[in-house]
Amino acid sequence: ATPMSIMTATGRGAQAGVLIKNAEALERFEKIDTLIVDKTGTLTMGKPRLVGILPEAGHDEAEVLRLAATLEKGSEHPLAEAIVEGAQERGMKLGDAGDFEAVTGKGVMGTVDGKRIALGNLKLIQDLGLDAGELADKANARRDEGETVMFVVVEGRVAGMVSVADPVKETTSEALKALHDLGFRIIMATGDNERTAKAVASRLGIDEIRADVLPEDKARIIRELQSEGRSVAMAGDGVNDAPALAQADVGIAMGTGADVAIESAGITLVKGNLDGIVRARRLARATMRNIR
Ligand code: ADP
Ligand code: MG
Repeated sequence: ATPMSIMTATGRGAQAGVLIKNAEALERFEKIDTLIVDKTGTLTMGKPRLVGILPEAGHDEAEVLRLAATLEKGSEHPLAEAIVEGAQERGMKLGDAGDFEAVTGKGVMGTVDGKRIALGNLKLIQDLGLDAGELADKANARRDEGETVMFVVVEGRVAGMVSVADPVKETTSEALKALHDLGFRIIMATGDNERTAKAVASRLGIDEIRADVLPEDKARIIRELQSEGRSVAMAGDGVNDAPALAQADVGIAMGTGADVAIESAGITLVKGNLDGIVRARRLARATMRNIR
């Protein structure tokens, strides 16, 4: 690769908000055949909103939300922000949380006003020896709408659930179509459950998903594809995505995402929109064609 043509490509990319780290990233990107995309914050806005509160019989809606939101004050997860904001919009006074603990890929635990509270996905409540019980059907109905459901456990019993919705970015759908047309195999990976993941994927024409993945699974999925001879790019935004971005042949970070994600990536999309990947591919093709 001539330094000149690479400089031209990276310069053009930069003007369009596609930051290519070095010649190697550009060269590798031309050979990519598989693209893994994280869901939250990558396909979606990453700005979920609280859309539902469903108490279990004998529990009060306001109390379920207040306990959940008080606990989530300790978390920086986008889902936590949605719950806290939802409570604030409803004019709620939050309590005092203690013993806060984040359970990666599953949820959070701690105490609120002296009560033991856990909040998170099905895996989290299963770890506690619980199940969704009477809320199971209602939880599935919410997931079929693409919502993420979290269970609220108070003193060892499921007290209710809260659900949030995270709108898909305006540019996502068209970018994915263009990427399909360019011949990429596209796989959505998410820590979200299968049902929610399928609802979102089917709206976007993504036919391959890996749901319920823990952060460390994303890097493993990439290693497996690589051992099958695939050349893999991974697009993600979160702190949790950094190991996968580093494992990928080319990591692609959302400029709107976490700093460690950006540091681990070969390409950064300043605006956080996937159409930057289409541009990166065209630049890589044009540059490599010039060189050969
Ligand atoms: P993603 O890959 O979609 O960005 P994460 O690995 O960050 O997802 O989270 C996976 C799942 O773990 C979430 O969908 C949610 O159910 C649960 N979870 C993670 N963090 C929290 C939190 N702070 N509060 C409630 N649930 C959480
Ligand atoms: Mg994410």
